[in-house]
Amino acid sequence: MYGTQAINGRGHLCIGGIDTTVLAKEYGTPLYVYDTALIKSKINEFKQAFARHAGVNWQIAYASKAFSSIAIIQLIDEQGLFLDVVSGGELYTALSAGMNPKRIHFHGNNKSHAELAMALDAKIGAIIVDNFFELDLLEKMCADRNQEIDILLRVTPGVEAHTHEFIMTGQDDSKFGFNLGNGMAERAVKQSLQSLHLNLIGIHCHIGSQIFETDGFAGAIKIMIKHVSAWTHDFGFQLQVLNVGGGFGIHYTDSDRPLPIECYIDTIVTTAKKECDCYNLSLPSLWIEPGRSIVGEAGTTLYTVGSSKDIPGIRKYLSVDGGMSDNIRPSLYQAQYQAICANKANEAAQSQVALAGKCCESGDVLIKEAFLPESCTNGDLIAVFSTGAYGYSMASHYNRIANPAVIFVEDGEASLVVRRETYEDLIRQDLALKDLSRNN
Ligand SMILES: *Cc1c(COP(=O)(O)O)cnc(C)c1O
Repeated sequence: MYGTQAINGRGHLCIGGIDTTVLAKEYGTPLYVYDTALIKSKINEFKQAFARHAGVNWQIAYASKAFSSIAIIQLIDEQGLFLDVVSGGELYTALSAGMNPKRIHFHGNNKSHAELAMALDAKIGAIIVDNFFELDLLEKMCADRNQEIDILLRVTPGVEAHTHEFIMTGQDDSKFGFNLGNGMAERAVKQSLQSLHLNLIGIHCHIGSQIFETDGFAGAIKIMIKHVSAWTHDFGFQLQVLNVGGGFGIHYTDSDRPLPIECYIDTIVTTAKKECDCYNLSLPSLWIEPGRSIVGEAGTTLYTVGSSKDIPGIRKYLSVDGGMSDNIRPSLYQAQYQAICANKANEAAQSQVALAGKCCESGDVLIKEAFLPESCTNGDLIAVFSTGAYGYSMASHYNRIANPAVIFVEDGEASLVVRRETYEDLIRQDLALKDLSRNN
């Protein structure tokens, strides 16, 4: 159980004080349900973990790729966080939500001219420059516009976080960033310092996602500060910002043992302090970029069970009305989830089934070994937990399945924040053949 989840007297799962069977009836399934009280409490955990370190400057930017929509960005804004975007679409969403552009940072390894122009037009707070192509392009664009912008350089410290290979990003062989080890980062720092329009305020790394230990963060900080000290000595670089990215692990299943948020923050702060002392540097502002750890556990997906199939001696499949179209993570990275039967939440969950999606892919199985009540069948409601990050944001239209609705729940009130797509939405961009007679 996460956040405000509870089981009521009828044996139904409730979130934010509302019976999930009532939500399913009102909004339909599949349905993404966000417990906004839990989102706020995660944000507070991060803030308080930093606040324990007096005299340290810090900043938290929510990585909006984990879940971007107008409403979530407004909630993030209201909580005083900064925001990371990685595309024109995410930037557009943030600006449309009314986010102060100064509090927006732009990431990505292949920002287009048009995307950079959009960021410069909006006068966003900072651009995290990923490569030399971008560094040259941005310099030229700013010169043409006679505009200045704060930048950070994304570096790859050569640290391998202990996580899934596909979500590991700090190692040398990565599409992201300037390598620290081979001198690319140093060249980028030199070039930035000579720029008339780019104001280099700091460096950034993001070593991976769903990280359950602090060593990777400490290692990355040590390596970065060591290089910064050399750059300070050799060409007077003043580090104002050290951004260590996101990637803090969360609980998907009982085999996940995430550290308390303050463990990560304590390691980041104490390592940065110690290393800066060691090289006689003043402590920069410490920035982090959590995505998953802010919205992941707050999201639950509700599905309705449809068909089932029992293959004697092999396994039983229970199929739900969504699947890889609303949650690609199990098929993309063998991500594990847990589920319950939301309308039979008090019944013993002793039947092992494969919880399958409805897409035409054998790999479309949300949970290979789900434990559900023996009686769980057609019409029952399934709740899959911890789907708040990279669920809706990675949703597709595979099999022309319309994207589910998203609702926020808190204190007994539900609000629709993303409407369910309709069949008309699915064909909205389609154009008919111009000349239907050509086949005759
Ligand atoms: C994806 C990403 C994040 C957020 O990662 P989480 O695992 O969701 O915390 C932060 N910073 C950068 C640069 C990223 O690419």
